[in-house]
Amino acid sequence: PVFAGRTILSSTISKSYTQEIAEKSELVRTNVKPNGKKPYLVGFLANDDPAAEAYATWTQKTCEDMGFEYSLRRVPNKDFLEEKIIEANNDNDIDGIMIYFPVFGDAQDQYLKQVIKMEKDVEGLNHTYYQNMYHNIRYLDEEKKLKSIVPCTPLAIIKILEFLKVYNSLLPLGNRLYGKKAIIINRSEIVGRPLAALMANDGCTVYSVDVHNIQKFTRGEGLKFSKHQVEDLGANTPELLKELSLDADIVITGVPVDNYKFPTESLKEGAVCINFSFHKNFSDDVKSKASLYVPSTGKVTICMLLRNMLRLIENNYHKEAK
Ligand code: NAD
Repeated sequence: PVFAGRTILSSTISKSYTQEIAEKSELVRTNVKPNGKKPYLVGFLANDDPAAEAYATWTQKTCEDMGFEYSLRRVPNKDFLEEKIIEANNDNDIDGIMIYFPVFGDAQDQYLKQVIKMEKDVEGLNHTYYQNMYHNIRYLDEEKKLKSIVPCTPLAIIKILEFLKVYNSLLPLGNRLYGKKAIIINRSEIVGRPLAALMANDGCTVYSVDVHNIQKFTRGEGLKFSKHQVEDLGANTPELLKELSLDADIVITGVPVDNYKFPTESLKEGAVCINFSFHKNFSDDVKSKASLYVPSTGKVTICMLLRNMLRLIENNYHKEAK
């Protein structure tokens, strides 16, 4: 081929946020925080997953680089984790709390997410934040002073799409994906479904794919609805997926297995491809079709976590001022 697509690394994208976040962190420390200390994040690790350990190490490094304080608290006995989180909720020195999941690997993890106090929930996993996101509500208060938090992995992918200029900044805010079609292979409650909703809320037509079926998320003809609507398109068959893919400007994968590869021949020429799975979901030849290819997203996710934390501190400041 005459043209091969470009790989854009998440480290390159996260660098574009480093300065902005570091500067804001310093502003928040000096002007907003009552104790004048660096914003302080605590991560709880209660599993022995090497991926979680690596993520924690990277969080620590990013925090140090950007003017944040970080500490990793290991809880070898998971049954004590809830108490430890409550202690951190009540500790005024701590600004943000996160848990490295999975902990129990079942519904109890859903419960743990809600134990983190909303005001310290840097990952944006609290039910209120999710509900606001699904309903396209951007603020927590009527005066529109307190910004709602967006879950950080889907937010990171939105920021990646902005960096790649898939978001068209000539269009009004909130409609900047108008006319675009996307496929998202993953509909988990942590990434795939919120991401489909966020993109559809911004005007995109999203085909959300899971192991069972395919759904279409849109804001309707002419973006007539204020939030996305969902339509079932039927079973996830290779034929339907191929038909939709050949017309998709954006393909985002998050399949958590090693042997899954999105078929390169189903990509539209010039598609933008992003993989957020820990495993490589695109084949080596992806750039024979893709214009831009982002092989992983984790580093941008950590930036968004820190950005969320600054927002939480500002929200708390505005709340106290009320
Ligand atoms: P999950 O197991 O909860 O969800 C997997 C989703 O993929 C489900 O919707 C499932 O139906 C779908 N799926 C699986 N196989 C499929 C197939 N063959 N075709 C279509 N859909 C299929 O996992 P998760 O929590 O969403 O995490 C997914 C991956 O993303 C993991 O590798 C995880 O490590 C990674 N992850 C990355 C970040 C990040 O910041 N980069 C954050 C969270 C998770």
